[in-house]
Amino acid sequence: MKIVVATTNKHKLHEYQEMIGTSFDVEFLTLDDIGFKDEIIEDGKTFKENSLIKAKAVSKFTDLPVLSDDSGIIIDELGENFPGIYSHRYADENGGQEALNNRLIKEIPGSKARFICVITFINSGKISQFEGVFEGKISNSIQKLNGFGYDPIFIPEGYDKSASMLSEQEKNAISHRGKAFRKFFEYLKTI
Ligand code: IMP
Repeated sequence: MKIVVATTNKHKLHEYQEMIGTSFDVEFLTLDDIGFKDEIIEDGKTFKENSLIKAKAVSKFTDLPVLSDDSGIIIDELGENFPGIYSHRYADENGGQEALNNRLIKEIPGSKARFICVITFINSGKISQFEGVFEGKISNSIQKLNGFGYDPIFIPEGYDKSASMLSEQEKNAISHRGKAFRKFFEYLKTI
């Protein structure tokens, strides 16, 4: 089965490929692979809405099944649901991810935080959505090895090191994307 992943984020595609492994006969295609070049305006108010907007936009372009995700981090001390769906933009508007991470560890270490991921799957017009939540807190130092985005300052619940210090497999086992993906994977087995 071929599935188009509605992302240009190579990290995400890599995480999906890693998670599906070889246990299931699925080939993930990128937007580049299918020649999709349109800009998708993500003007939803929630992860669910934005995830759906992306999947629908790509579904109009291809008859293949489409998988999209929308994700981000919610940091309690920054306000309700914030930066949430604006996680990427918030970093851009604050001098870039590295500068923002350096600021957050000084200003709000220990703040509760969680990553959210909503996967949307459209197959022959049928829409399904799957959500995963990854709880943790903001660290008081940068710990950077793997991962991307807010990983170097996010300490998963029950851990004493950042998500960036985990191997891909370790992160996938507990992450928002991993959890949403496993729900999707269980669904895929039933169709
Ligand atoms: P997107 O809109 O789903 O591509 O992701 C929004 C932003 O959320 C990303 O640019 C990252 O800043 C952040 N984010 C989402 N998932 C992760 C993760 O697993 N680790 C670190 N940052 C993440």
